[in-house]
Amino acid sequence: MTVRTRMAPSPTGEYHIGHIRTLLYNYAWAKNNKGRFILRIEDTDRERLVEGAVDRILAVIRDYGLSYDEGPRVGGPFAPYYQSERLPIYQKYAKQLVDQGLAYYCFCSKERLEALRKKQQAEGKLPGYDRHCRNLKPAEVKHKFAANESYVIRLKIPDGEEISFTDVVMGKIKVNSGSLDDQILLKSDGFPTYHLAVVVDDHLMEITHIIRGNEWLSSTPKHILLYRAFGWEPPTFVHLPVFLDPAGEGKMSKRRGSVSARSFLENGYLPEAILNYLMLLGWNPGNDREIFSLEEFTKTFDLKNLNKANPRFTFDKLNWFNQQYLRAMDYENLAERLLKFSTYNKGEIVRVLPLIRDRLITLKEFDDQAGYFFHPPAVDRKSLSGFKSADRILEHAASVLSEKLDGKFLEEKAREYCASHGLKVGDYFMVLRIAITGRTATPPLGEIIQILGEAETIKRLKANSY
Ligand code: GLU
Repeated sequence: MTVRTRMAPSPTGEYHIGHIRTLLYNYAWAKNNKGRFILRIEDTDRERLVEGAVDRILAVIRDYGLSYDEGPRVGGPFAPYYQSERLPIYQKYAKQLVDQGLAYYCFCSKERLEALRKKQQAEGKLPGYDRHCRNLKPAEVKHKFAANESYVIRLKIPDGEEISFTDVVMGKIKVNSGSLDDQILLKSDGFPTYHLAVVVDDHLMEITHIIRGNEWLSSTPKHILLYRAFGWEPPTFVHLPVFLDPAGEGKMSKRRGSVSARSFLENGYLPEAILNYLMLLGWNPGNDREIFSLEEFTKTFDLKNLNKANPRFTFDKLNWFNQQYLRAMDYENLAERLLKFSTYNKGEIVRVLPLIRDRLITLKEFDDQAGYFFHPPAVDRKSLSGFKSADRILEHAASVLSEKLDGKFLEEKAREYCASHGLKVGDYFMVLRIAITGRTATPPLGEIIQILGEAETIKRLKANSY
């Protein structure tokens, strides 16, 4: 058996960071088993389609360094991979269930369904279809067809049947069919619902493992009934826990800050660092190891090591991963990645990276942290005037450095000067740091002045002493 996994995005909005995690696990499980990973676009909900969403989803998958073996643009043996191009297939299978007496035509109008819903609500009952059309006589159905009445196809949910399945993460799940509504399979516009399309396609595309977010767990019993109705073997179900927001108080959501997969890249996180963090949000390697390349992950990943508990997504941990990856990069490669975030050119960036790289948390911070190398900082006079004799310190340093542009030499002279003038050495260097960089925390000053050069260093010291 070839392992076949799939990710099935609906182009109804932006890809979420959680989708990338789910996709990553599908990708890894397929690779781990020398199988195939399929991408299928579930675009059957015509009202919720968002213009351009497919393109953006495909682009973000690529920008995270992930790919698929079959799907849009690359094709494959089970094409088309857009559900909207597969309508006759779903119509055929829905019709087949009607012919077998396992599904039925329902002609109920929107108005009737709305009135029913209101009545159920007023009586304090759960909303649900009352099976009004479930037992229409063939002659009645024929008559309604002849009158061109619009219809949907619904699944006949059996009464009082136990539906059970074992989810790899969530364990044994049991549901009584009595709690399920007669699901719509085919809508009046001829499009399938998610439930019909997902089951038909997962079967036809020979998917062996459905790895998805556990918000789909409650739909699974309906899918199991469909597999039964068709006489098909269901695949293995793997429902992943959801991310909790950093405070651990609830599901991570847009309301609590941006969760779009794209926004993390735009905020200067390296895709490989984000992926590494995502690997550990739902899976554990069985030991303390945290750093995994994508390739190492696909070799190590095992469904057996998935966690059931909802992981907490924290920026502290993501920042930590990003720093590890930044520090491991050589200056040339890092400069390439920085170009998109910086107004400086590659040569300029490479020149200062040895001083800046290990201080960066994200790529986006580079210009802010390194800007003073390229242009004189805006120095707030007030931040200098808080120091005793700031002007004289600046004058002194300017004269020392014009004698010799050297950090050690400056340090010696500064100590002598502070000792004879009753000043603190720490204050002396803070005054210089502020005047030269506009910041209170920087790499060692001795190294900064080597890059700036004598003329520029002295110019800055003088510009701030008056
Ligand atoms: N189209 C569904 C989604 O947008 C797919 C759910 C599934 O994986 O079955 O997430």
